[in-house]
Amino acid sequence: MSQADQPGYADLDPAIAGDLVAANRILARHGVLDSFGHVSVRDPRNPARYLQMQAIAPRDVAIDDLITFDLDSNALDARGRPVYRERFIHGEIYKLRADVNAVVHSHSPTVIPFSVTEKPLRAIFHNGHFLGGSTPVWEIRKHAGENNNMLVLSQELGRSLALALGQGSVVLMRGHGNAVAGPDLKTAVFRAVYTEVNAKLQMQAVLLGGPVKFLNEFEQRKQQNVDRPWAMWKKEVGME
Ligand code: MN
Repeated sequence: MSQADQPGYADLDPAIAGDLVAANRILARHGVLDSFGHVSVRDPRNPARYLQMQAIAPRDVAIDDLITFDLDSNALDARGRPVYRERFIHGEIYKLRADVNAVVHSHSPTVIPFSVTEKPLRAIFHNGHFLGGSTPVWEIRKHAGENNNMLVLSQELGRSLALALGQGSVVLMRGHGNAVAGPDLKTAVFRAVYTEVNAKLQMQAVLLGGPVKFLNEFEQRKQQNVDRPWAMWKKEVGME
């Protein structure tokens, strides 16, 4: 193994590790992650690996918590540290989507009702454009049966979730949460935050009654610059 192939973070660009710490803290601050949920980034040194923190509350992570995984979600350098049990969500999405370089799994609360009813979560305002005309819902019972424990604890379940995501940005997990994919970490964080915001706004619009005007197919293709919110959110968590 050359040094560049070594797992761990000794040779990792410190900006990547720092951004992963920031992503955890930002998502916790916005109520997307609480004591549960996780975020990962594809390893820029080796696309067949990803980086994720050890299994602790996302608000509390530091660079030393970083662990390297292969795409089968085996930890390469855990050294006894606990790993997130649902990490397969990340590995299986990276396997199927070469364009995805960051993934967030959360239980962000306002999104849950859209996973258990017939009303699709869809783009209702410009910052939610990436949700498109409807968001797929993954039903664990179809893959793990009625007697399931609601969690994605295997490659097989992760793969079926990744297939439900398809080429989209977000997939809901019935009665559980959602998974968000992005081309880079700051975009995945932006989408995870605004998936929750869009769900709130959609709920409020429906409460006002009458037909709701959603974004049309052209408006859904808006190109979002995520640099400004990313810079502001990093400042808010004390990481400039
Ligand atoms: Mn979960």
